Amino acid sequence: MAEEAKLIPHVSSELKPFFDAARNHQLAVQKCDNCGALRFPAAPMCLKCDSTRSSWVTVSGRGKIFSYTIMHRAYHPAFKAPYALAVVELDEGPKMTSNIVGIEPSKVRCGMPVQVMFDKLNEDVTLPRFRPAD
Ligand SMILES: [Zn+2]
Repeated sequence: MAEEAKLIPHVSSELKPFFDAARNHQLAVQKCDNCGALRFPAAPMCLKCDSTRSSWVTVSGRGKIFSYTIMHRAYHPAFKAPYALAVVELDEGPKMTSNIVGIEPSKVRCGMPVQVMFDKLNEDVTLPRFRPAD
């Protein structure tokens, strides 16, 4: 049987803390050390107070679907169409773009509660994805 096609994200130094947390089945976002604002994706400066001091904190992994689209065309063998691509608004505020798994794509809706799950792609990279909340 052929090995399943996988697309492994590049782990930049900027996002290494995110992927280190994911390997431990935790979802992490950046937190401004000056004003406490949370942000994702990683950025060198806080959009609220311009501070360049930040650290990484873990969040609940729960949120809701803010927006989504259904992809009907497979642009890579790793993505079997149809699949749902969504912007998830975390309970703590930041938004993440992710796949929605564990549900028929046609049943995905805005406002649907979701929770993170972790997809181990290889020894180095575990990718957070979201599924309907319990
Ligand atoms: Zn700030």
